[in-house]
Amino acid sequence: MSNLAKNIVWAILTLVIIALLFSFFAGPAPAAKTLSLNELAQDINAGQIKQITVSGNNLAITMADGSTATAHKESETGIVETLNNFGVSAKALQAVNIAVRSQSGWQFWAGLLLPDLLTLIAIGFIFWLMFRQARTGVNQAFNFGRSNLRLSTFRDKVLFKDVAGLKEAKEELIEVVDFLKNPKKFLDLGARIPRGILLMGPPGTGKTLVARAVAGEGGVPFFYISASEFVEMFVGVGASRTRDAFLTAKRAAPAMLFIDEIDAVGRQRGAGLGGGNDEREQTLNQILVEMDGFDRDTRVIVLAATNRPDILDPALLRPGRFDRRIVLDLPDLADREAILKIHAQGKTLDKGIDFRKIAVRTPGFSGADLANLVNEAAISAARLSKSSIGQEEFYDAAEKVILGPARKSRVISEKEKRITAYHEGGHALVAAALKDTDLVHKVSIVSRGFAGGYTMKLPTEDQHLKTRAQFVADLAMMMGGYASEKLTFGDISTGASNDLKEASSLARRLVTKYGMSDLGPITFGKTEELVFLGREITTEKDYSEKAAQEIDGQVEGFLKRAYETAEKVLKAHKAALNKIAETLIQKETLEQEEFYALLKPFKIKPVAA
Ligand code: ADP
Ligand code: MG
Ligand code: ZN
Repeated sequence: MSNLAKNIVWAILTLVIIALLFSFFAGPAPAAKTLSLNELAQDINAGQIKQITVSGNNLAITMADGSTATAHKESETGIVETLNNFGVSAKALQAVNIAVRSQSGWQFWAGLLLPDLLTLIAIGFIFWLMFRQARTGVNQAFNFGRSNLRLSTFRDKVLFKDVAGLKEAKEELIEVVDFLKNPKKFLDLGARIPRGILLMGPPGTGKTLVARAVAGEGGVPFFYISASEFVEMFVGVGASRTRDAFLTAKRAAPAMLFIDEIDAVGRQRGAGLGGGNDEREQTLNQILVEMDGFDRDTRVIVLAATNRPDILDPALLRPGRFDRRIVLDLPDLADREAILKIHAQGKTLDKGIDFRKIAVRTPGFSGADLANLVNEAAISAARLSKSSIGQEEFYDAAEKVILGPARKSRVISEKEKRITAYHEGGHALVAAALKDTDLVHKVSIVSRGFAGGYTMKLPTEDQHLKTRAQFVADLAMMMGGYASEKLTFGDISTGASNDLKEASSLARRLVTKYGMSDLGPITFGKTEELVFLGREITTEKDYSEKAAQEIDGQVEGFLKRAYETAEKVLKAHKAALNKIAETLIQKETLEQEEFYALLKPFKIKPVAA
């Protein structure tokens, strides 16, 4: 460290200067000769000394011949006594002119104290150096407890116009900023300023984005920290950082403090096995304490985001803390279109891109998925050396996001190609021939990811509810591939295994969750779900063996009827199936319009499953 080197140079320089000064003041003027006391005694006895000037312990001697010399005596004894001890006779001494010059005060004290003083200074200096080192260390340790609080320093500014949909979230947050700026208006009405707002929603739905937009729109100072930054290796750091974050925000009040990914610390306490979560608990406790510490007129609102509200500690959610909750859903059709448009801005597009159609093909996509889709489309357009991005690239990107990249290069034999064509053709035909199914958007035998081919059927509108008739039609469509293979080749391939798995699990849900079987309005099994991820984690069996058998029977019934429906459709429209399959073998992919144009001559009238 150059700092240390500099310090050492300074230290040495100082010491040298002090030593020089010392020798300058304390040292005698350079003398011609230095006599030992022995020699001096002899010289006195010999009568060669004229004068001795004593100053302190230094003896300035003037010889009889006029030359000068110096000598030193011991400090404790007087000059006369010293000389006596060396055998100088009283007579000889009388001949010498002895003058004792009193030292000036400072010289005396300096002579006495300087050596000690110097040592002290040197030691002090060393200590000072050490403390300096230590202090920077301490400072670092100190900083450790500081939160990495950022004053809305998001790299690029986001405004509300950059956020599509999320209307409720935006409104709520605007209201809260207004609250902070003009509390009187609200307080006069007796309204209480909310302390905490929790944004919750699946990953990628724009929680961070909307918070950033609040910061970008300004109004009040906005502090941002990710909860994962609270937790470090050392216990206590998180709590200290929390304290610091709240303090900083309070100093800047009215202000907003945004804690992103709060589930990193907000996990239910005592849930962890075998310790190790102490630090998190302490941090969480500190957050609770800080939020309780807000007075009625502390104008700081804490904003937090999580995609796991189900694992949050209930204490966080009780009134007075994060009592306002805003749910951010996956975007609906209109929102998806708006999000696509926002992210397509600044990209070179073909004229007349239909974002609606892309939005229709992307149900269940989050905002982040859609942003990614637009980017994928741009990349694939660039790869094809196109000058602008076309509708095709967007569709392709959507399928890529859902199923994985197309594996055009995968070599498949003619036989496999035929099987796949009849399999997918079966799905598509059953979908087209039943009343309650969704529109077929695309049929393809180009393999993607793990799928050998695929039939894309999508609802024209967002669906929040599904009926039994729709499920039954869906089941039949799922069986379309299997039935078609069996009907055409008299054999079944492994290509249908995923269909069967999906169908079985759907049928089971119809019986155990939706009460759509003959067993009537009842559910079976207690299921814990990850709220937003829609994944089941555990299913507890809470029914008898007899009920289990009945359930199995019902599931079987659904699947059997679905298969029979599919078989019936395919048998009735064998010519249409052949046409679709043969066209698929040639063209590999059929878009919605091509597919329905192909079916037109067969005059298929959709029937109920
Ligand atoms: P999370 O909810 O996981 O915090 P983010 O806010 O980080 O999700 O969103 C990730 C990205 O997805 C954003 O940076 C943005 O590009 C895009 N995005 C998500 N929702 C929207 C939306 N409503 N409007 C525009 N872009 C969105
Ligand atoms: Mg986020
Ligand atoms: Zn299939």
